[in-house]
Amino acid sequence: MSALSEKITSGNRRAIAKAITLIESSRPDHQEDAEQLLSELLPHTGNTIRLGMTGIPGVGKSTFIEAFGKMLTGQGLRVAVLAVDPSSQISGGSILGDKTRMEELARDDMAFIRPTPSKGILGGIARYTRGAMMVLEAAGYDVIIVETVGVGQSEVAVADLVDMFLLLLSPGGGDELQGIKRGIMEIADLVIVNKADGDFKSAAKIAASNCKNALHLMRPKSPDWSVDVLETSALNATGLEEVWQNIQSFKNTMLKNDEFEARREAQNIAAIWSELNELLTDQIKAQKSEETTALENAVKNKEITPLAAAKELLASVLAK
Ligand code: GDP
Repeated sequence: MSALSEKITSGNRRAIAKAITLIESSRPDHQEDAEQLLSELLPHTGNTIRLGMTGIPGVGKSTFIEAFGKMLTGQGLRVAVLAVDPSSQISGGSILGDKTRMEELARDDMAFIRPTPSKGILGGIARYTRGAMMVLEAAGYDVIIVETVGVGQSEVAVADLVDMFLLLLSPGGGDELQGIKRGIMEIADLVIVNKADGDFKSAAKIAASNCKNALHLMRPKSPDWSVDVLETSALNATGLEEVWQNIQSFKNTMLKNDEFEARREAQNIAAIWSELNELLTDQIKAQKSEETTALENAVKNKEITPLAAAKELLASVLAK
């Protein structure tokens, strides 16, 4: 085992940060080192609960994670937070990185916070998140929270990487629920209506009840689990213990029905195919660049269909 892996498994924070930087890097030698490192860490991974959390900007995600994280570290649990911001891959900027977030939790020895990678991540969010979670698990964190900004497809990608997916909503305006895409509600294992305090209190009740009604009309994600809607105030740190109880109850239910491991196994198998997809595409583009360009032009000029072009490229690779 390398010195870096040893430091990681003993919980060394600098080593953890260094490893995640390797995973983020687009340099081929760093990518190779990262791969080697992850293979070494593999036997030490798995012993956590992986939580995904999403919600539109302003809903209170960082306030919630800070308060929730502090509660957990107060109970002796080690908490890691990974932020992923898919918009950073498009704009080069970062919504999550712009503000100083979770200052108190960041100072907590029992917590580790990794802000969103600032540049596009090689291999995409899924590869990055899987790798970083492995490092954090090997380092002995009990709870890993993957936070994502609710801007579309990315939640679905993150939901496929975690054990339990939490959707954060806030009252006010009253029409938020319509704005939340049905698809995101469908992948949630728990819905949290935050800002249930002060002037928002009654609006939060109404939002929670609307949300429960909407959930009743949806197909359950798991036959063994009914999705709850809980009200919290991240600002006043209320309702957080109920959220933790719900998470533990979810984990116990999934463990009892052998669904916990089954989900993780299915996620890992799916990862083989998505990785293969990426690798193949990259290699074909690199090795067959002329042919690729010609076929792209043929598709542009409506000479052939995209499927025909893809088949032709595949045939040309397989013929080698
Ligand atoms: P994020 O963009 O989802 O990470 O949201 P933030 O955590 O930055 O919070 C956005 C704003 O909502 C901030 O001004 C917070 O102080 C406020 N906020 C967050 N949680 C609560 C809450 O439980 N109650 C109230 N009243 N305000 C909150």
